[in-house]
Amino acid sequence: MKVTFLGTGTSQGVPVIACTCEVCTSLDFRNKRLRTSIHIEVNGKSLVIDTGPDFRQQMLRENIEHLDAVLFTHAHRDHTSGLDDVRAFNFKQQMDMPVYAVREVIDQIKVEFAYIFVNNNYPGLPRVDVREITSVPFNFDGISITPLPVMHMRLPVLGFRIGNFSYITDANYISDETMDLLKGTEVLVLNALQREKHISHFNLEEAIAMVDRIKPKTTYFTHISHKLGLHGEVEKELPKGIALAYDGQQIDVA
Ligand SMILES: [Zn+2]
Ligand SMILES: [Zn+2]
Ligand SMILES: [Zn+2]
Repeated sequence: MKVTFLGTGTSQGVPVIACTCEVCTSLDFRNKRLRTSIHIEVNGKSLVIDTGPDFRQQMLRENIEHLDAVLFTHAHRDHTSGLDDVRAFNFKQQMDMPVYAVREVIDQIKVEFAYIFVNNNYPGLPRVDVREITSVPFNFDGISITPLPVMHMRLPVLGFRIGNFSYITDANYISDETMDLLKGTEVLVLNALQREKHISHFNLEEAIAMVDRIKPKTTYFTHISHKLGLHGEVEKELPKGIALAYDGQQIDVA
């Protein structure tokens, strides 16, 4: 399995528009973060988790020429607003794009992208094949995917586990039940927003404490704010086995 970080930034991205802080003005490419999303290549299939506002740019940057499905974690705009651009894959692959999400996310997408769901066959519209999931593990073309229910303040969000790889973005609480589902995971991706406490995301200290409990071999932090600090500086203080993810980073998972 090959995982590519398409974006590792929080909802505003980094740099933030009109911000002149040292992170937003840094020339280090690792301080430039598009909105959080990953691409997974597994068993010859190509999946993305979330289609944020930078989806088009991310597909172009990583030369992704084929996409088999989209999985949604939750319906916040920084994770869904690029959905329109699956059109390109509709045209090229001549198929409706399978989109996996829980009922509440599907309902929200049908409101925000109402034009996609009207019955008028306009040829330029994106075509999605919505597939409702719950917290029960499901199968996509022979790939077993385990949803990881977490809380994002009061909003239920799904992480996903595929084999030894687990991905959790937008959380500030992980239940004991989900901790059980994470057992034995070798590579973990987890949100770590900033240093200060936040109402709906783990901050750096809380994310490190979660890693101590989950005990994966390797962890990558994502959904990062400019307030976390310079990539190179923050990395120096992280415990062994933990790194900050950066846009374009690729990892192989056994
Ligand atoms: Zn988010
Ligand atoms: Zn800034
Ligand atoms: Zn969110």
